[in-house]
Amino acid sequence: MRSITTLDLQYAHRFYGFKGEAQYLHGHTGVLTIEVEDSVEPGVNMVFPCNEIQKTAWQVLKNFDHALILREDDPLLPAVLDVYEKQGIKDGAPQNKMKGPAFQTELATAYPDCRLVVTKETMTVEGMIKIVYDLLKDKLNIAKITFTSGVNAASAEFQTKNNIDRCPLCGIALNENGVCPKCGYKKA
Ligand SMILES: [Zn+2]
Ligand SMILES: [Zn+2]
Repeated sequence: MRSITTLDLQYAHRFYGFKGEAQYLHGHTGVLTIEVEDSVEPGVNMVFPCNEIQKTAWQVLKNFDHALILREDDPLLPAVLDVYEKQGIKDGAPQNKMKGPAFQTELATAYPDCRLVVTKETMTVEGMIKIVYDLLKDKLNIAKITFTSGVNAASAEFQTKNNIDRCPLCGIALNENGVCPKCGYKKA
């Protein structure tokens, strides 16, 4: 069965080199739906608590929220960084608090201090699904990701591959010692 959760992301981007309006910088509220598939954990009668899927996903996804997402070869990138530098906000600002840990994958690098994500490919809805799956595939048994942004939407299905032991009392993933980080339950 599947547990399904949805997150909102507000971001700015553009399709560099694309012949259409999207070649200009603009913004969206994107809606990301993550479907996690597993057996139903009998103790809690659920696959995975949806608020825990959100927490796990948000740790990395908050770097995309209120962020600028640019392709690595976009000339806007050095131009924007130059302005941030001159303004003294490139390496952070006291008001920039909603930061996740910086990450670097083959597809994307996050610079939380200046709310920027640099991508290898154009950040279309399809591109975002690839990036998100890559960031979360080891943490969650993702069966499907759907991303909607304005009139654009895409979805992709994945083979689940992790064997995740879950707490029979609160449903979240047990740590490597078989202990629930939330309630302390220990697997016999
Ligand atoms: Zn767009
Ligand atoms: Zn527990």
